[in-house]
Amino acid sequence: MVRMEGTGARCPACQVPSHSVRGSYVRRPADLSSARHSVHLALRIRRFCCRNLECTRRTFTERPLRLLFSRARRTRRLATAQCTVGMTAGAECGARLLKPLAMPTSPNTLLRLMSRTPLPPRKDSRVLGIDNWALPLQLQFESPPSGSVVTLHGHGLVVASPATPGQDVRDRSHSPSQE
Ligand SMILES: [Zn+2]
Repeated sequence: MVRMEGTGARCPACQVPSHSVRGSYVRRPADLSSARHSVHLALRIRRFCCRNLECTRRTFTERPLRLLFSRARRTRRLATAQCTVGMTAGAECGARLLKPLAMPTSPNTLLRLMSRTPLPPRKDSRVLGIDNWALPLQLQFESPPSGSVVTLHGHGLVVASPATPGQDVRDRSHSPSQE
């Protein structure tokens, strides 16, 4: 059984600390595996009374935000590990890899975790290129011309939206200093 440190918690509405415990319940989020076995924490969450008479909130639960997101069924560190595997291997292969590592999840969940991960800050690049990987598909489905503008130094994505027919792709770069 895992318990939160400290004897009290702050009311999320008024920020006044309270030590008046009104009860508790147990959450069982999945955690990093151990010795190839899945691990679920038994985390005791306490409910407190807010003693601030001016506060509209009567009770609140403590929030282990460093350990897991609100209402999450997995710890942050497990989400980070699963997301890293998904980013490296892709959602389908990542889900297959995670199963023997005892951190199973579905491809859809991996996609959701990856979509929530903030992208690294984009570095300015003076040299841009067009990734026309979709060109064979466009010819096959007779779709409007599209392509992605990418930086040639960092291989980062600059613009992914389809170009308006007839639009000069140079109009889609963000800086006049870019070539
Ligand atoms: Zn309060």
